[in-house]
Amino acid sequence: TMALTVDNLIEWINNFSQKVNEHKDYLSELDTPIGDGDHGNNMARGVNAVQESLTNKKPAELTDAFKQVAMALISKVGGASGPLYGTAFLEMAKKSKDTTDLGELFTAANEGVKKRGGAKVGDKTMVDVFEPLAEKLTQGLLEQSEIDEAVEGTKDLVAKKGRASYLGERSVGHLDPGAMSSGYLFSALIETEGI
Ligand code: ADP
Ligand code: MG
Ligand code: MG
Repeated sequence: TMALTVDNLIEWINNFSQKVNEHKDYLSELDTPIGDGDHGNNMARGVNAVQESLTNKKPAELTDAFKQVAMALISKVGGASGPLYGTAFLEMAKKSKDTTDLGELFTAANEGVKKRGGAKVGDKTMVDVFEPLAEKLTQGLLEQSEIDEAVEGTKDLVAKKGRASYLGERSVGHLDPGAMSSGYLFSALIETEGI
């Protein structure tokens, strides 16, 4: 299956950062009817800090690279998503001591997010993207259509976690903003050359 190096991690994260900045307003718009309208701004602040960190100090090892990404996200994103994305990258940092396999890395990330946030598949969160797509990566095949499907799938769900859960049934009919930003993370990954 697909494996990762420091250079393609940097390319992947730069691509993710570009997507978040490009779709910053859209992510905040998604967060408006079912949240507090800040997801795009939160994520843009985070990815810009990540880019600054990776530029100021190029990591020597994959584990350091994941740690730098995690620390920048934790310190700058805020909200519910900051600690959760931070946890995802910290878990990948830990796992990267043993493997560079993307399926294993993302399985560890997903488990960390679930443990930290208490969400499971079907709760209308980023877990609805992380879990099925970690599984696809483990099988060695991930396509954009599957990313779209996972993100779109959050539309019909009732939110059980985070701010959107305050709306109960009224959260139905809206995409989950964290699922959308997670979709960008996976799209950026499969667009990265050489993985
Ligand atoms: P906040 O809701 O604190 O303003 P953000 O708007 O940045 O934070 O992020 C909201 C996103 O975080 C949601 O769309 C959802 O995907 C994700 N999220 C919130 N709570 C949880 C949770 N407990 N587990 C997993 N993901 C969560
Ligand atoms: Mg929000
Ligand atoms: Mg907020």
